[in-house]
Amino acid sequence: MAMLEIDGVSKRYGGLQAVKDVTLRVGKGEIVSLIGPNGAGKTTLFNLITGFARPDSGRVRLEGEDVTGLSPEAVARHGMVRSFQITNVFANMPVIENLRLASYLRMRSPLLSDVFGLRSARDRAARTMKEANGILDLVGLARFRDTPAKRLAYGQLRLLEIAIALCVRPRLLLLDEPAAGLNSREGEKLTELLRRLRDGRGLTVLLVEHDMDLVMSVSDRVVVLNFGEKIAEGTPAEVKENPQVIEAYLGTP
Ligand code: ATP
Repeated sequence: MAMLEIDGVSKRYGGLQAVKDVTLRVGKGEIVSLIGPNGAGKTTLFNLITGFARPDSGRVRLEGEDVTGLSPEAVARHGMVRSFQITNVFANMPVIENLRLASYLRMRSPLLSDVFGLRSARDRAARTMKEANGILDLVGLARFRDTPAKRLAYGQLRLLEIAIALCVRPRLLLLDEPAAGLNSREGEKLTELLRRLRDGRGLTVLLVEHDMDLVMSVSDRVVVLNFGEKIAEGTPAEVKENPQVIEAYLGTP
């Protein structure tokens, strides 16, 4: 069963068809990128998936469970986690505490704490610390453990956002332009991290991105939107050579 199934989803704003009858699948452990020109409907589709907007028609399913039209909080509780640029970071808090807070909030959720069988506050504290340290190592921020988040460089902050999202233990991680504002070295680090998350942890990722180096090097599949419609889908190599995609978005190589 696919991790995410989007079936015939549409959204209209007044006279504008922002998303039109889009169907797509994201398999477990896959990295899928959503690309397309400005205004193609990528962010709107993210909003429809994550409960920030309601589709006019169509269904969204996470591992077979219908999450169409649920609130963003309810969607997040189902394990679909969206990393927002910077807004989830507490600037004055040390990096490690930002992560522990995210782990702690997850464990406080009655449903999930049952699953984890957590009994005492001390149990929780020990677990959140262990988990936060592990994730800091994984994203390469261990040396900034006690640094207030506001002292991080921009590229490090973007990694911190991903680390915070990981603390929620997503089934599906949605990243909105994770490479925006990164230099090429930071972009490469991000590519490596996403590969490590997929290959090492089996994480499933859907991302919206304009940075074609990142998209082409990290994606298992690429989905192309134009004027709200899906115009192509395939491996990076297939999409790169698709005449319709070249005309609408990529231009002549
Ligand atoms: P970008 O790459 O610039 O972020 P995008 O592919 O994410 O673009 P969207 O932001 O989804 O595109 O926008 C698709 C269309 O829907 C645009 O024409 C946009 O103006 C319109 N739109 C999006 N949200 C709303 C809204 N809440 N009300 C009215 N129009 C909207």
